Amino acid sequence: MKENIYNTSFAELKSFFIDLDEKAFRAEQLWNWLYVKGIDELSGLNNISKNIINKINEQYYLSQFKVSRSLLSKDGTRKWLFKLEDGKEIETVYIPDKNRGTICVSSQVGCSLSCSFCHTGTMKFSRNLSTSEILGQVMYVKNILKDWNNKTDKKKITNIVFMGMGEPLLNYDNVIKSINVLTDQKGLAFSKRKVTLSTSGVVPKILDFKEDTDVNLAVSFHAAFDEIRDILVPINKKWPIANLLDALKEYSKKRTHKRITFEYIMLEGINDSIKDAKELVKLIKPYRAKINLIPFNPWPGSNYKASSPDQIKVFKKFILDEGKLVATVRLPRGDDVLAACGQLKSF
Ligand code: SAH
Ligand code: SF4
Repeated sequence: MKENIYNTSFAELKSFFIDLDEKAFRAEQLWNWLYVKGIDELSGLNNISKNIINKINEQYYLSQFKVSRSLLSKDGTRKWLFKLEDGKEIETVYIPDKNRGTICVSSQVGCSLSCSFCHTGTMKFSRNLSTSEILGQVMYVKNILKDWNNKTDKKKITNIVFMGMGEPLLNYDNVIKSINVLTDQKGLAFSKRKVTLSTSGVVPKILDFKEDTDVNLAVSFHAAFDEIRDILVPINKKWPIANLLDALKEYSKKRTHKRITFEYIMLEGINDSIKDAKELVKLIKPYRAKINLIPFNPWPGSNYKASSPDQIKVFKKFILDEGKLVATVRLPRGDDVLAACGQLKSF
């Protein structure tokens, strides 16, 4: 059986050539074709002989993403529903901004964690995505936007966030492998400072993550009290706030230069009072942290209401003035096409 070449790490590709008695630099040449030039077929690699291309062809194939549906929001955000080789579907979002372009990638089909405010959480978990399926999302959008071979300051895709469907730390190996390819400076060359993984708080994997990569970490915190977090982010029953904060302490010791983003969804009457803000500041104060307030994005059938803009302002002001912490409000993007955070769900 042929393998999907996008599941292969650089080291594995190098071994492939060495096993063939070929020079290891062939791996560099092929890697450059795949991840700098963005070829989508193996013909036309003009610095590699036909004979070697045939051997690559015997072992590997290049996958192509199929689109089931694509939507364009009035704010320029684009969302694609991709059909995978086994017919399962995932979503990917591209969010253009003045000085950057962000891709929000999915890491699983569905999610097993059922956070009560999240649309993806209402889907049954189906399976993990392979490395090629994670990378394929980025490569497809690079194709559409003609974003290959661009100088750094001309790149249309500058940031990657693992904030689409799924819990990335529950698909740990494939996610780390894809991060390594994304941030390989001889390949796709994303800056480690511009790749962010968001987790709902899979504590043991946060401890692994700090060893294995130094891309950014965001934590879906959402509540400062266990009673509330148990309901919003049910994984909290397994790893409550104190455990999560302990893991983040270990993370900070290892990654001293990194700022952890604490994501905090604003739900009217649930977690948006000054009492909540006070507790949040108390818990997060010891960390090099940034709080990202996320107004709840509604979806059909959701039971929550977003906090009012005034309440979000009051909450943010408390964090800034009393807590002396950095806080930003995430503007919803693409919400008219259900492309905003937590609105992703395939049918
Ligand atoms: N599973 C990971 C990453 C995907 S969710 C995680 O939970 O962190 C990405 C972000 O979107 C998380 O912070 C999540 O809490 C947030 N989110 C989910 N549903 C939302 C909704 N309806 N409105 C706003 N943000 C939401
Ligand atoms: Fe899964 Fe994240 Fe949604 Fe929770 S918020 S259900 S962990 S995708």
